[in-house]
Amino acid sequence: MLCCRLVSSIGAFFMITYCSHCLAKNRLPTDKAPDEARCGRCHQPLASHTPLTVTAENIDTLIASDIPVVIDFWASWCGPCMQFAPVFTQMAHELEPKIRFAKLDTEQQQALAARFAIRSIPTLMVFRSGQMLAQRSGSLPPSLFKEWLLELTGA
Ligand SMILES: [Zn+2]
Repeated sequence: MLCCRLVSSIGAFFMITYCSHCLAKNRLPTDKAPDEARCGRCHQPLASHTPLTVTAENIDTLIASDIPVVIDFWASWCGPCMQFAPVFTQMAHELEPKIRFAKLDTEQQQALAARFAIRSIPTLMVFRSGQMLAQRSGSLPPSLFKEWLLELTGA
């Protein structure tokens, strides 16, 4: 039997991000591709490549992630939001887990829409380590959306 395995090597750097499946916070070594990461709690792949649904319960876990999280504030009655939805889903598929993706239904989560002072939709906000990095209103084509995200996050 192996004795005394080191929990972490000294000098290694870690990022905290959430599991798409059980939302457990996971520590990822920065030198390891997060694509291969599995959740320490539920053992599923850490990133699901589809946008997560934001709720009052999970919002603080999501925005605390050290890997940037982009949130799409939307509503089902908003035409531009519905047009933008497939673009957002496509980018999640392409860019998770370098960037994490989540959607906030402003009708279901009116208190959260108020907390983030959402005045028009769609609005996109990017968070990292609990801080807002950027926000913009209006939908945008896939190429510009991707460019904006990569520039912003350095991913
Ligand atoms: Zn998990």
